[in-house]
Amino acid sequence: MRTALPGFVAATLFAAAAYAQDDMSKVEIQTEKLSDHVYMMIGAGGNLGVSVGDDGVFLIDSQFAALTPKIQAAIAKLSAKPVRFMLNTHWHFDHTGGNENLGKAGAVIVAQENVRKRLSSEGFIAFLGMKTQPSPAIALPIVTFTRDASFHLNGEDIRAAHAPNAHTDGDTVVQFTKSNVIHMGDTFFNGLYPFIDTSSGGSVAGVLAAADRGLKTAGDNTKIIPGHGPLATKADLKAYRDMLAAVAAAVASQIKQGKKLEEVVASKPTAKLDAAWGKGFLAPDKFVEMLYGNLKK
Ligand SMILES: [Zn+2]
Repeated sequence: MRTALPGFVAATLFAAAAYAQDDMSKVEIQTEKLSDHVYMMIGAGGNLGVSVGDDGVFLIDSQFAALTPKIQAAIAKLSAKPVRFMLNTHWHFDHTGGNENLGKAGAVIVAQENVRKRLSSEGFIAFLGMKTQPSPAIALPIVTFTRDASFHLNGEDIRAAHAPNAHTDGDTVVQFTKSNVIHMGDTFFNGLYPFIDTSSGGSVAGVLAAADRGLKTAGDNTKIIPGHGPLATKADLKAYRDMLAAVAAAVASQIKQGKKLEEVVASKPTAKLDAAWGKGFLAPDKFVEMLYGNLKK
């Protein structure tokens, strides 16, 4: 499916890779070891979390369909077992694109119930002007939960907890309790201005709440997998939380004063932060526009 996307999105947000299979041929899956059996994988789209061991492979997210063979090959280097469970952190296409392939390969797909609802029907991401088609049944989560779920696999408890109305209305944050690893899904963009999908039930307050919960759970040695961006520490998550809170407060106060979108954007409330956060994902003006649209509600 090709959709007319605003230029900035096509160029930067999910990269042309989402739409051009050619680009996927150049993507390499990079594997980073986080504990004796938990790994982070970076390819295109959302970062993956992987647990391997005697009980089988537990995978977080599936990136894009075209990458499934590469992801399977990267996992095969760590374990001879197939993917037993695959948990989606939320419904967005750059995290669920490989669902159909993995479902066909026998993985049990698990997610918060709103992920199944959104994948089952036609979707619309308003800020991107992007329509999505319902997923085939094999690509849908067949196990859903409302608030939380625990997996007892590979020698540890893996806790999946719903982060309500954060990046979307179906975000899950996953904690590997023994490995001391947390996967934040898209409630955390490390070093990048985040996208918050208002039309999918996302909110600034929910993202801040998810970050606060992550900060409470994490210790100084916890390895934190963000939805996008490199592997993070608790300090990185704190910096992200503080950046988002500061810009949102500045935008909210201008909304209170009755300022129009153009005026708020022109005031450049992110000016001091752009060098650190504004490179390559959401451009600063678009980030402010997105916050304005969310906070105005
Ligand atoms: Zn997302």
